Amino acid sequence: MSYVPNMLKAMKTNVNIHKAAGKSHGSGISLLELVTKFPYEDAARRRFEAIIWTDGRVCPNRGSDDTHEPTHAKMPCRCRACKRYFSVKTGTVMAQSSIPLVNWVYAIYLDVSSLKRVSSMKLHRGLGITAMTARFMQQRIRVAFDAGGPQVLFEGPVEVDETYLGGKAKNMHANKRREKTHGRAPVGKTAVVGVKDRETNKVAAKVVENVHAATLVEFVDDHAEIDATVYTDGSTLYSGRSAHEAVHHSVGENVRGKGNRNDVESFWSMLKRAHQGTFHRLSANHLHRYVAEFCGHHNIRDLDTAKRMAHTVAAMGGRRLTYDVLAVGPEGVAVEPW
Ligand SMILES: [Zn+2]
Repeated sequence: MSYVPNMLKAMKTNVNIHKAAGKSHGSGISLLELVTKFPYEDAARRRFEAIIWTDGRVCPNRGSDDTHEPTHAKMPCRCRACKRYFSVKTGTVMAQSSIPLVNWVYAIYLDVSSLKRVSSMKLHRGLGITAMTARFMQQRIRVAFDAGGPQVLFEGPVEVDETYLGGKAKNMHANKRREKTHGRAPVGKTAVVGVKDRETNKVAAKVVENVHAATLVEFVDDHAEIDATVYTDGSTLYSGRSAHEAVHHSVGENVRGKGNRNDVESFWSMLKRAHQGTFHRLSANHLHRYVAEFCGHHNIRDLDTAKRMAHTVAAMGGRRLTYDVLAVGPEGVAVEPW
């Protein structure tokens, strides 16, 4: 899917990227405007089709554009090549659900217009849908941002840092944590490593099993160009890369040259506030998806609301996760719903 990388590239040149965290940058859409724009299902369907089928309607099975609209109760389109019926939801994270597209419009709106993301309980109450349906929708919106890998390599300079979600070790310096835990996340906590490109202000983060050097270097290599300057704290974990410059917080320097970590730390603090404030019962099995979603939202936060919504819909197209995976978790162990 080329939409997301193209969009990130466009944002890099067109958007004023140095604004304070938490500030609402783009122009918004009022709820009343949204109701006027999407008063019924057909309006929502046309919008989704325009975003997901950017080059015209194609069969999600084999990509044929030889399609038509026969009369069918649920599936409005049919492929003449493979004879299958489909809709704009087929082959996306919205597949296998009978939730009207107009509901998705409002769920996405609530999600992108709240800084700390929206909880499933808020969707449940706000849209008048069951709690189960709300969780289903929320999880699928989240999946849209979990692309399973980096969209673009950051050119840098980049800042790299790690943090832990859950538990009480948040005030301990990263070096001390590493000494005490031998690179493993403390019991009950989950290690997350993140990278931020100083030029574009874009971030990527990932839940990791440990913070050993090999894990962290691999993460940096996955997200930053090999010749990108990498700023970290006082550790030498990333010194295998060609251009490494550490920021030594331990010797009392907050800034050494351009090596200021505050940007990454402000991202961590937003992540933690949202984690504590909105998602009280977030299962560790779903944390990677939540972290990916949070990064995705961060990376489009300078766009106005309509563009953020369009970006989300585009990311939902072509991304799919079955209910089995969501309900059962990666190790095949049943997890509590959240
Ligand atoms: Zn087909």
